[in-house]
Amino acid sequence: MNQVLVLNSGSSSIKYQLLDMADRRRLAVGIVERIGESGGSAPDHAAGMRTVLSELEGELDRSALAAVGHRVVHGGDRFRGPTRIDDEVCAAIKELIPLAPLHNPANLTLIEAAREAFPDTPQVAVFDTAFHQTLPAPAYTYAVPAEWRDDLGVRRYGFHGTSHQYVSRRAAELLGRRPEEVNMIVLHLGNGASACAVRGGKSVDTSMGMTPLEGLIMGTRSGDLDPAISAYIARRTGRGAEETDLTLNKSSGLLALGGSNDMRDIVAAAEKGDENARLALDAYCYRARKYIGAYLAALGRIDAVVFTAGVGENSAEVRAGVVAGLDHLGIAISPKRNAAKSKEARYISPYWAETAVLVVPTDEEIEIADQALALIG
Ligand code: AMP
Repeated sequence: MNQVLVLNSGSSSIKYQLLDMADRRRLAVGIVERIGESGGSAPDHAAGMRTVLSELEGELDRSALAAVGHRVVHGGDRFRGPTRIDDEVCAAIKELIPLAPLHNPANLTLIEAAREAFPDTPQVAVFDTAFHQTLPAPAYTYAVPAEWRDDLGVRRYGFHGTSHQYVSRRAAELLGRRPEEVNMIVLHLGNGASACAVRGGKSVDTSMGMTPLEGLIMGTRSGDLDPAISAYIARRTGRGAEETDLTLNKSSGLLALGGSNDMRDIVAAAEKGDENARLALDAYCYRARKYIGAYLAALGRIDAVVFTAGVGENSAEVRAGVVAGLDHLGIAISPKRNAAKSKEARYISPYWAETAVLVVPTDEEIEIADQALALIG
């Protein structure tokens, strides 16, 4: 029993990986896209699950399947760790739909489909919010009326928790220290992006908020802004809350500033002298740098700044831009180490720097599989 199937469903896609955890090898990796869209391969997530099963034909050995691990986006303040899925857990994920109206329904349909496909295999939910349940109240509290906080669940939850947890543990390994001993700031810079302050292996602050919109500038999300802007846009244009929410999530960020949500395009255009792309890149790096300052203050001292995810792992330009000017805080990178291409976890700070700057490739699927196996014993 050493296989784990990891399922990660978006609103219109299912990503899957079949892992052999005996040697931590990937047996199959795939994605079913455009679910529910006209011309797509599957009308719904249940049909998408059948596609996954047919694509796994030959690799999947049901008798060796120890667990199915599900990435679930929102666990509210109820789920603090990996959880064995039963009817009650499904009901709780359903109750959390108002907090994640696009993601939790998709996660739930896929869970139901997987429970039908593998009725005898333990199914485990790993929540994107769980790692951040250790945030102290001053960090997760928004200064809003009690009714919003107590009755409507308005607070910071944070996301990318599985990635921050995996990366912070791997970073401690690279430093040769126990996670309990180190403080670090993890910058998960992918299509979505978030910063996390980690003290002794626990998340104590993170930049995404009640939803994934808050914090860093992202591919298509604005990140931080004055909350009064929504009302201002409504008064000026008559656009309602839903439309503005969609604009801030899907048509803002790098896309709005620089014309592409892909950092590779932004960097290439900026280097060619495109001023919009330059502004997009500079604003992106500046926002991330501000969070380093904020989390340095929150943590008191740090041992490392860690870059991960698509942009963080691959873009030397962004890494250099983010830490620019922080030498006096002990944070610097070696241009040569930063420019070296590698898929391995590595140092990019110079030998003399007080604070390590690291690049650690994230692996959410391995983390989900590990957590699922650890839970079922
Ligand atoms: P992720 O969400 O972690 O898969 O990251 C996806 C993002 O990584 C894409 O939007 C790309 O813009 C970015 N990315 C991937 N490779 C590079 C690269 N070499 N330079 C800059 N950005 C990259």
